[in-house]
Amino acid sequence: MEISKKNRYILGVSALLIASILIFAFLRERSHLIDATTANSLIANSMIEDAKIDGAYLYFKSGGSHYRVPKDAVDLKKLYTVTPVSVKETNPYIADLLTIGFLAILVIYLLRWARKNREIKEQQLSEQIQFANELQRPSDIRPIVSNITFKDVAGINEVKEELEEIIDFLKNPGKYLDFGIRMPRGVLLVGPPGVGKTLIAKAVAGEAGVPFFYQSGASFVQIYVGMGAKRVRELFKRAKAAAPAIVFIDEIDAVGKARGGMRNDEREATLNQLLTEMDGFEDSSGVIVIAATNKIEMLDDALLRPGRFDRRVYVSLPNKEERKSILKIYLANKPHSLDLDEISQMTVGFSGAALSSLVNEAAIYALKSGKSIIETEDFLAVKDKVLLGKRKVLTYSEDEKRIQAAYQAAKAVTAYWLGIEFDKIGLLSDHFQSVEKEIVSKTEMTNLIKVHLAGDAMMHLHFGERFTNAAHDLKEAQLIARDMVERYGMTERLFGGVNEEEKILAEARSDIESFIARAESGIIRLSKEILRREVVSKEDVKEILHEIF
Ligand code: ADP
Repeated sequence: MEISKKNRYILGVSALLIASILIFAFLRERSHLIDATTANSLIANSMIEDAKIDGAYLYFKSGGSHYRVPKDAVDLKKLYTVTPVSVKETNPYIADLLTIGFLAILVIYLLRWARKNREIKEQQLSEQIQFANELQRPSDIRPIVSNITFKDVAGINEVKEELEEIIDFLKNPGKYLDFGIRMPRGVLLVGPPGVGKTLIAKAVAGEAGVPFFYQSGASFVQIYVGMGAKRVRELFKRAKAAAPAIVFIDEIDAVGKARGGMRNDEREATLNQLLTEMDGFEDSSGVIVIAATNKIEMLDDALLRPGRFDRRVYVSLPNKEERKSILKIYLANKPHSLDLDEISQMTVGFSGAALSSLVNEAAIYALKSGKSIIETEDFLAVKDKVLLGKRKVLTYSEDEKRIQAAYQAAKAVTAYWLGIEFDKIGLLSDHFQSVEKEIVSKTEMTNLIKVHLAGDAMMHLHFGERFTNAAHDLKEAQLIARDMVERYGMTERLFGGVNEEEKILAEARSDIESFIARAESGIIRLSKEILRREVVSKEDVKEILHEIF
């Protein structure tokens, strides 16, 4: 806007200048002054055309040239007999006056332009000063220096791998920018409470050695009206000033809950501001937003679109091996005589956070009992207390375990059958680790949708019911279908709409339903194995299926 204003002034000034020059050129006196004798002899010889009296002069043309002579010096009477003369009573200085007028306007224009420019500069400066003051003003939006590294986070090796690239980018942004590589702006960590999402984000900041800005989604919406959006703006201002940096938004669903239903203007304004900030990032800003949620299916679609939180990393409850390594971390500096396999076995469904408080409670219990080392019985004594404690721990009942195992087995069998690469599948991982590829075909994407719909189809077939554990997969299926339509144009009508999306999903669902019906016995067989072992690898799936088919 500033530039166009500037341009307008330049245009105006040039137009005025040109106008003045033109007026000066056309209206200015162009005739030659001649003496009375010459003029009188021209009159006598009838060699005068277009004569006119203007002010004190007689103007005329003769032989193609313009002349003027003081009117009192010539024989006007003679002239009147030779040629008609028009008398014009104009001011001979009109041209000069006009030119001066235009030049005056020009000067005023220039002065105004200079003043405007100064005002704009002053305003910019005062904004800068205000911003600098704002940054210095004590605020609770302050970065922390994280000294957490991946060593402090146990298990979740796949998650670490997925985040390696981002750490490298934060460490050496230049390397990526030189190659024109666009980094993800937002990473969404999806997983139940207490599995270490915050810890992971801190570890990314710690590994990369960049400032870490923590905000909980709730803090944006539980304050006065209009403050949420302002806070988001301030957060990003500060992060950009400290870049490269990580902004972590915990429980983003508090802000990004899908719109519709009960409207909450405050939340909507905050969400819009967040979207604006993320869209406004230049690739070189060096700010990466990590957000955490345990309810991706509740998030507003706008947040999941390309350029926003387009990278999603799933963090599951730890499986048996992972629980063991988490227990190891928290028992490292405590005297004990524990069989970690045993403790790990009895803590199915415990998150990292729950395990950490379990170890702590057990240590306190042992100390109170006057013991010098922690034993298994100390764990048994406090287990229920931790389970009922403040932190809600996810524990499956036997029925729920059966449902979940069948659900996961259906996905594994489908993936195996459709040739989709995967590593392993577990009872607790509410998502399925598939191997990433660079170029993916329409068939592969459709197959992936089928895998995400497989669990739900199995529930329907085997239990005659649908369950809430399908939520994540259904959302993923929908997002893939949307990408196929909106991003990759894999439909008949190029970049169609919701109808195309629904068509893809409906076709995939009907395909998978008939597949599940055929594979039911194999799935049940695999689900028993998952129940027994908690995690099975792709190799295991292969063996089990080959025994049956
Ligand atoms: P979330 O953000 O997913 O709710 P947090 O990151 O807040 O979980 O985890 C809370 C605490 O639980 C952490 O500070 C840490 O002490 C412990 N914790 C959770 N997961 C792990 C893990 N994988 N390894 C080590 N500690 C963990």
